[in-house]
Amino acid sequence: MNGKIIAVACATLAAAPLAALEFTPESTQVAIPAKAPGPVQLAAEEMTNFLSRVFGRKVPLVRKVNPAKATIVLGTNAWSAAVGVDISNVRRDGYRMKTVGNALYIAGEDADISLGRCRGNILYDRGTMMGTYAFLEKYAGCRFYFPGELGEVVPRRDSITVPELDFTDAPAFAERKYSYHNAGKWYDESVDAKEGERLKRLNVFRLRLAARKYISCHGFRSFRYGRRFKETHPEYFMLQEDGTRYLIDTEQKPYSKNCRLCFTHPELREIIYQDIKAYLTGQPPQSRGLDRWANTMWDRKYVGVQPEDGWRPCQCERCKATYRSDLGPSFATDLIWGMTKEYAERLTAEGIDAILMQSSYSAWREPPSFDLPPNLAIDISCTGPWAMRRPDGGKSQLAMLEKWTKKLGHAVFNWTYAGKFSCLQLDLPDIPQITPRVWGEFYKVAAPYLSGEFAGAYGETSTDRFLFDALNVYVFSRVAWDPSVDVGAILDEHYRLMYGPAAKEMQSIFERLEDIWLGRICGRTIMTSVGPKNLTPSEFEIWTDIYAPEKVDELLATATAAAAKVAPGSLEARRIALMREEILERLSRHSRGYAESLSVAREKAARAARRPVNLVEGFKPVTITVDATMTNKPFHCVKYALPLAKQGHHYRVSFFAKGENVRPYERRGGVQGILWWDEAADAGKSFPRVGASGSFDWVHLEREIYIPKTGVANFKPEVDLRVFYATGTVHFDGLLVEEVK
Ligand SMILES: [Zn+2]
Repeated sequence: MNGKIIAVACATLAAAPLAALEFTPESTQVAIPAKAPGPVQLAAEEMTNFLSRVFGRKVPLVRKVNPAKATIVLGTNAWSAAVGVDISNVRRDGYRMKTVGNALYIAGEDADISLGRCRGNILYDRGTMMGTYAFLEKYAGCRFYFPGELGEVVPRRDSITVPELDFTDAPAFAERKYSYHNAGKWYDESVDAKEGERLKRLNVFRLRLAARKYISCHGFRSFRYGRRFKETHPEYFMLQEDGTRYLIDTEQKPYSKNCRLCFTHPELREIIYQDIKAYLTGQPPQSRGLDRWANTMWDRKYVGVQPEDGWRPCQCERCKATYRSDLGPSFATDLIWGMTKEYAERLTAEGIDAILMQSSYSAWREPPSFDLPPNLAIDISCTGPWAMRRPDGGKSQLAMLEKWTKKLGHAVFNWTYAGKFSCLQLDLPDIPQITPRVWGEFYKVAAPYLSGEFAGAYGETSTDRFLFDALNVYVFSRVAWDPSVDVGAILDEHYRLMYGPAAKEMQSIFERLEDIWLGRICGRTIMTSVGPKNLTPSEFEIWTDIYAPEKVDELLATATAAAAKVAPGSLEARRIALMREEILERLSRHSRGYAESLSVAREKAARAARRPVNLVEGFKPVTITVDATMTNKPFHCVKYALPLAKQGHHYRVSFFAKGENVRPYERRGGVQGILWWDEAADAGKSFPRVGASGSFDWVHLEREIYIPKTGVANFKPEVDLRVFYATGTVHFDGLLVEEVK
């Protein structure tokens, strides 16, 4: 069949006949001009690749439009202009799609950059790509769950029919991003790191995530006040409780606790304003004593003025007078928002067109009582999806979004924390945080506050395996584009299209993983003497209970049942095998390995065979009991000096423990064995991860620790056996500290 306009007769209606455009394997071509911008070239590459797979025959990319062929014309160009495809009313990240005669035009705002720069970057306008993926989804039935054959759904078809149409579409949330650079290792081991990064960017494109820079954070970090003024003006810096000024240089601690400032100091306050103004009025950074302007400033229009992480209140009388004791933890609201308002209003008064970016964060989360000017962009930080299963159902964070949108009269940015490492600090690999249902639920209910031209969402995610976040982010991308979507239907479709006859089994595995993550890992709320607390479980609890070998076996059995329902070697079978290996087998290996390491008999046999040199002298079995009256101290311990331990060496701490009703009341609470080598410094200790809890018979606990060669002020190594942030009784025996290679 040749490409032609098919007139569909409407027998019963007098209305004009509907003209449909039919694309077939023989007739279809994709056209872009010889000198198309990079985003249009990339759109054409994707369009021809996917349509070729849909049709089972190569769809050509051509450089001129043949009216006899069914042509998809991509981008704005002389052809689109000639038929009146105007994109001036298309909103940011949106596109226009229009049929004219034998051609379908898809166009949006596209950056005029090279194809190479497009592949290596995500922050550039690519409206035509947005329209291209929308076409492939809506009319060709493609789905982009994750890049690679197994994550792409490409139905085979003999034709694609497009009705006569002319519409524009754009996302509800202008900002739609996640930490794709922290998205973990690629699932295909044959892909090298560089290619893995390219594929992560490709995923961002295909999910139609945001193309422009919006949210900035910690703008004050980049003004380098420490370097500029700590010698000459210590009075610009935070006055501490002990009467000294906080003068840690930004160069020494580049990412935290620097730039703790006295924001009410009149000179500093003026310097900050002049820095902002210099950038906005096109001055060079050298005019302000800087080498370069910060990446929290852009387009000579946007400037981030959020204080640094680790902010602490200045104790000077001027600052203290601004603190609002009635706002509890938000006591610095008037200070920070007052300063932000002052700068924004001064810029307006001076006729400078600019947007200052500030966050509802830390001690200035609550909106101030005074009005705020319109030239501010504000992001609200909250837990996000993972708070949806908390006792309040995530209501408190939605209340904050509501409060701010009411205050401002428009939608806001939202910064959320669904990050396994950065946010939850669960420093254990291979535990999947697959939680697509709550990602969908949260952004659905938050959508009224986030839908707008200068609003939206950023998910600060972090994980170790790419596939752990893939479905979460897929659902996020759907809701952020169109909050009216049905999340349940999107997920049902995903299981059906990806796993065919095994959809039910695979859905049950994913849902079980989500329930475990939300109920037992990130949302584990326990009652303590100071009220309910949210605690992440210990490694011990995860591998002996939450993901105990027999529980992982149940999930594996479901995967086996799923595999039995699909044809061997089929795409569905290979997808099931991929998920089994990426998720379940990893859990199983850790769980079994940990169970083996707990065996006292195994450890005793190993010691008998190896006869290690024990650095601990004079150890005797010991029992520590901590009751509710003793929780004013973080831990109770016995200590043994290790005079023979040396810097720059690795050590293994190994001991036996038996617990009776060990109940943690703080994060990482439980039974621990740790090494200290420098009591004076925070860094001079091994990170306490071994935190056995509950009631358990004798187990063997161990970990390896490296004592660094440098950076130790007062080297005094010792090993502590302790009950950390927990109540209960613990018996210790068999302590061994040995050097390992
Ligand atoms: Zn102060």
